[in-house]
Amino acid sequence: MTDPASTHGGGNLAVPRRILGFAPDAADAWIVHLDCGHRRHVRHRPPLSDYPWLGDPAARAARVGAPIECGRCGRGELPDGAAAYRTTDAFDETTLPAGLRREHTLRAGRWGRVEVLAGRLRFVMPALAVDRELAAGEHAILPPELPHHVEPLGPVRMRVVFLRAPAPDLPRES
Ligand SMILES: [Zn+2]
Repeated sequence: MTDPASTHGGGNLAVPRRILGFAPDAADAWIVHLDCGHRRHVRHRPPLSDYPWLGDPAARAARVGAPIECGRCGRGELPDGAAAYRTTDAFDETTLPAGLRREHTLRAGRWGRVEVLAGRLRFVMPALAVDRELAAGEHAILPPELPHHVEPLGPVRMRVVFLRAPAPDLPRES
């Protein structure tokens, strides 16, 4: 991601996500669809990439619902094609709901973008080691299921945009 306003600066942490299914890619590679909306290319190429079960349909099916690490969630990257479905009112330091000031979490598959319109806001998301100030014009990405909260640093105007990843396009496997 090249947008510096959304860089988390929290290092390279991976987030465990659930496998929704597998779609074939080129040759020996598969695309794993995750419940965060991201996709991961996986191939069996030991010793660096060791997935001996990948070519077996039953073994793949058995792993649907199992966790796998998602590096893109760890970097706070929105899934490709994520679409906004709701935007909150603009809040200031007096109208910011208490629920956003204390730790809260988006449900699976739902993303958010905290946008600071004026002033300064503190944004804290411990799972990704994020604790930073957002200035006017900056934003932070909220991945699903990661607790976070915000705190006005003096006068501020902010809003939250909620986004959804497109449904995965998965082949039927028997
Ligand atoms: Zn992800």
